Amino acid sequence: MSNTTRQPGRHFLQIPGPTPVPERIIQAMARTIIDHRSQAFADLSLRVINGIKTIFKTKQPVILYPSSGTGAWEAALVNTLSPGDKVLMVETGQFATLWKDMAAKIGLVPEFLPTDWRTGAEADAIESALKRDTAHEIKAVCVVHNETATGCRSWIQDIRKAMDAAGHPALLMVDTISSLGCLDYRHDEWGVDVSISGSQKGLMLPPGLSFTAVSEKALEAAKSASLQRSYWSWQDMIASNASGFFPFTPATGLLYGLETAITMLHEEGLDNVFARHERHGRATRAAVETWGLEVLCRDPKYYSPAVTSVLMPEGYNADTFRALVLENFNMSLGTGLNRLSGKVFRIGHLGDTNDLTIMGALSGVEMGLELAGVPHAKGGVTAAMAEITRATNQVRAAA
Ligand code: PLP
Repeated sequence: MSNTTRQPGRHFLQIPGPTPVPERIIQAMARTIIDHRSQAFADLSLRVINGIKTIFKTKQPVILYPSSGTGAWEAALVNTLSPGDKVLMVETGQFATLWKDMAAKIGLVPEFLPTDWRTGAEADAIESALKRDTAHEIKAVCVVHNETATGCRSWIQDIRKAMDAAGHPALLMVDTISSLGCLDYRHDEWGVDVSISGSQKGLMLPPGLSFTAVSEKALEAAKSASLQRSYWSWQDMIASNASGFFPFTPATGLLYGLETAITMLHEEGLDNVFARHERHGRATRAAVETWGLEVLCRDPKYYSPAVTSVLMPEGYNADTFRALVLENFNMSLGTGLNRLSGKVFRIGHLGDTNDLTIMGALSGVEMGLELAGVPHAKGGVTAAMAEITRATNQVRAAA
């Protein structure tokens, strides 16, 4: 017999991914695995490949790897670039740093535009760096759309404009791992060459599937790119995918779930999905500000609708606070990564979440602050309720 005390109710998984998987998706995945060389499988994979295109807002190929997002990062680099190529990246936080480290490890030469991890990627800084590169040695600009470590988003359309203003031919690669299905995203309209995402955040699936939308220009670059690739070869994938097959065993169960996830996103309406994430971001920040705590993102232009990182007051450890919240209220909050370790906790408000889930989460945080003896003002939860009520009334008035 287990001596663990039963936790009644459901666990609040408020980390910024993996996010809670809706019951409907769990049911969809709990189906018998079929022959991945059968017509039934091909029909399924053609449906999900076409379906995920509507989420990326693209008509171009989307590749699905049975991998986490990191695998798709690597695939993006090795398919389009050659040893010694320069890549321009922006240090928005831990995930941008990991992607930059990967680029260096596989033989690329990253130029890393620094930030203090409290802001998004500045289009002006990218434009200046590209203008300095008169010899066009930079072959790709790589940006994280929503930096999950900091809660700062970037504006991809502005970055595209900056690249065009610089008249620079580099590829634009965007990590949408914690933004796809949370923030508006337009692969084709924004002229993105490679958009990378993962299953475990806005798509509401378990981890294990990555998505990569690729442009004509990226496919053209792949023809001459000489970094070594085998498993990650886009060419093999696109060739097999055309008829609904994969060059290796696909993640059939996750593909069942993906079909349902895409249906659910469209049933809600993508614009409503984005508005919901915006609303929950605003409600969360209203609570944080009322508590008298500081949102890590220091410029409202870059506030993330998917995750809020909260700075702990000097002398208080964010992980001690998180542990107390978990122990007492059965809620997981995100930890601070790398240089933010112990300094911030993150509130995930992405994926399959609703107004009352967010209110429950914020109540847990407010009670946790009290238990941990963290100096704060009361009323954050009330401020969040007011924000949600205000937004709801606005929608009702417009209906
Ligand atoms: N990029 C971002 C923005 C992320 O949030 C993550 C993971 O959380 C990654 C990349 C790495 O993806 P994965 O852990 O799926 O390999």
